[in-house]
Amino acid sequence: MRAVTIGISLAATVFLVTLSIPAFRAQHEVEVLYPSPGLTRVFRLSEINPHLKGTGGDTDVYLYDSGKPGGSLLVLGGTHASEIASPLVVILMVENLEVKAGRVFLIPHANASAASHNEPQEAHPQYLEFETAGGPRAFRFGARFTNPVHQWPDPEVYVQPQSGATLAGIETRNLNRAYPGIADGNLTERIAWAITELIRREEIDLAFDLHESSPEYPVVNAIVASETSQDIASIAAVSLQIDGLDFSLEPSPYGLHGLSHREWTDHTNTLPILLETANPAMGRLRGRTDAELAIVGKDERYVTAARNGLLYVPFDSEGIPIEHRIGRHLAAIRAIVSAYNELLPERGIQIGGLPDAAALMENGFGRYLAPPQ
Ligand SMILES: [Zn+2]
Repeated sequence: MRAVTIGISLAATVFLVTLSIPAFRAQHEVEVLYPSPGLTRVFRLSEINPHLKGTGGDTDVYLYDSGKPGGSLLVLGGTHASEIASPLVVILMVENLEVKAGRVFLIPHANASAASHNEPQEAHPQYLEFETAGGPRAFRFGARFTNPVHQWPDPEVYVQPQSGATLAGIETRNLNRAYPGIADGNLTERIAWAITELIRREEIDLAFDLHESSPEYPVVNAIVASETSQDIASIAAVSLQIDGLDFSLEPSPYGLHGLSHREWTDHTNTLPILLETANPAMGRLRGRTDAELAIVGKDERYVTAARNGLLYVPFDSEGIPIEHRIGRHLAAIRAIVSAYNELLPERGIQIGGLPDAAALMENGFGRYLAPPQ
């Protein structure tokens, strides 16, 4: 009798696993982007680190070279692929950016492996769909960590190689604990090394790492800057505040290693900035989780939490829609680039073609995406 029960459960498991294979495989498909006319070149990150060739961590780097003298800017989306505004900001930039001085490097999926799966037991949607002028386009909602299909098993304890700090084993697959990286290390370390090396080789002056966090996490609606980028971050925070967009300024900690802003400061000459917006689909206090929560951002439980003083961002019945979060990121990037231009005019970076927060709210994100071909 027991053997029969085991047999039936095994058969049911195999059946369910087989059913879900196409959905898992589909998330490895990278969405097609339609770059703006300013694009000069697309290359793979494995051009910088050949140890990434043929792995799930290899990804596209979009270069916009104005051909005019100036500095170089790098923007990373998707370090944590569940922080969905982050890759979407960079995708919008890929499809709309104009560069009038200097060069801009864009990486929509910094951890491409993390975009290829989503987190177990979170009920996150697999895709978010947006209506463009010529039909809908869908984008993957990924995970915080490198896909275990690409890097496995995790150690019991992750010892951060440069600092010797000990973290939970799963952090071995966290790109934002892997900097400055190791050229032939594990997949996450290879990606981190390639990005650090891109910054060094291309003499990137200003580098952004875009993130989101939950509304109840203290570092939210924040600009994180190191000792070298604090000046431009504070000038930008004031001008953003005048425009009605409050950002807290957070210093890059000296003692916490593996983080982009910390290690880029210590290992390259770039001025590093990390940005955070509030994503209700990531929070622990959230209610029903679906694509609508990630896009529209309305949640009654968060309204209650805000009323009880449990959040670090305002939250009312209007929620925090994706357009507001993307608009905040773009506004912060513009304000920081402009502060940088004031301080270092001889290596200025002039960018345009990007909507402001109000226009995004009015028109919707899909309005800034090319129609699917
Ligand atoms: Zn993050």
